[in-house]
Amino acid sequence: MRNKLSLLALATLAALPLAAEVKVLKNFTLIDGNGKAPVPAAAMIIDNGRISWVGAAAQLKVPAGADVVDLAGKFVMPGIINLHGHVGAVVDLKQAAENITPANLEKNLKTYASYGVTSVLSMGTDTDIAFALRDKQRAERPGETRLFTAGKGFIFAGGYGGLAGVNEGTATPAEVPAAVAKLAAQKVDTVKFWFDDHNGEMKKMPFPIAKAIVESSKKNHLIVSAHVFYLDDAKELARYGLNGFAHSVRDKAIDQELIDTMKKNGVWQLAATLSREASMFAYTKDAPFLSETFLTRSLSPSVITTIKSPEFQKTLAADPHFSHYPDYFETAKKNFKKMVDSGIKYGFGTDSGPPGRFPGFFEHWEMELLVEAGLTPMQVIQSATKNSAEYLHEKDLGTLEKSKWADLVVLDKNPLENIRNSRLIDSVYIAGNRVK
Ligand SMILES: [Zn+2]
Repeated sequence: MRNKLSLLALATLAALPLAAEVKVLKNFTLIDGNGKAPVPAAAMIIDNGRISWVGAAAQLKVPAGADVVDLAGKFVMPGIINLHGHVGAVVDLKQAAENITPANLEKNLKTYASYGVTSVLSMGTDTDIAFALRDKQRAERPGETRLFTAGKGFIFAGGYGGLAGVNEGTATPAEVPAAVAKLAAQKVDTVKFWFDDHNGEMKKMPFPIAKAIVESSKKNHLIVSAHVFYLDDAKELARYGLNGFAHSVRDKAIDQELIDTMKKNGVWQLAATLSREASMFAYTKDAPFLSETFLTRSLSPSVITTIKSPEFQKTLAADPHFSHYPDYFETAKKNFKKMVDSGIKYGFGTDSGPPGRFPGFFEHWEMELLVEAGLTPMQVIQSATKNSAEYLHEKDLGTLEKSKWADLVVLDKNPLENIRNSRLIDSVYIAGNRVK
């Protein structure tokens, strides 16, 4: 009966039954997100979506009436947290403000969920619809990926970034405090601003505006995150003491001055977005992953046909900056690894959501690319779980420990042996609800 009610609730996205719901997962190998050695023969009790006990299966006492799931041979890790997404504005390969509807947002979040991405921070291209959905999720136990949002991020008037029809430009530092106060009232999960000029083609935000955004955000106790591209800009923004960079520096190798400033001011490299950089040149030839079911299962056939078409590939290659993209990718990889080795705090993010940057698939590709960049699979998993929860100040997410939400992924094989095993998803739980 309890099972039927839960399934019905999931299917209709209605509020879940209030009656106590206890689930037991047992006989799996636990990768808890803290970075310690995996624990074989583990078990977990989930009480109304939260972990009430986790330990050795031999010590498990199954509560009366619990649903018991035997996961012998499986691996359980915390759900993936993507700190850089753009949710709900894309249908197939078109990104537009008018696509942002509650239904499209929910569809997007269900796609992320089916890939084991259990939280996503949408970085600055959201309308008020996002707040409504987020606040509803927080009042109950979500049946799709948890949404965190920056609301409308800051772009310089007429300058780079944002989404047409959503982001209004800021022209002077004097406008900033009122705009940040509005975001604070909406309880944004981060403030976001774009600091770039698209290879010198667009207007870049003047430093005084960025400084005002960082200062106002801090005054309002908000996390503040920036899109960056250039090393020199990153240094200046780090001096202001923002919380994190939402992309790797991509124009040149980072240096000790940046690292020292970031350390001094507690600035994070909150995302590497390597999959974004790789995607800039991946589709000009027939990328092998376009034929992998792991990706294609979430795409409409027309998207695949378009992306594989010679016309589409020609359009991409005609980009005047096309020849630089492989260099940006290599630079991003080296810079991120250097950040990690230097002791800079780091999270996990892909910049998935925009056309061709497919939610869910990109997070697994990112993990693979991070290993290629020189991180260990354990570092990658920690970045995508514990670290990313810490960036959001979310004490109830990121690791699989007592009292935290049961947001987790069940895998058929060990991702620590081969990070591509993260793709062998048996099931996904968010707040104890099975969502895949
Ligand atoms: Zn972005």
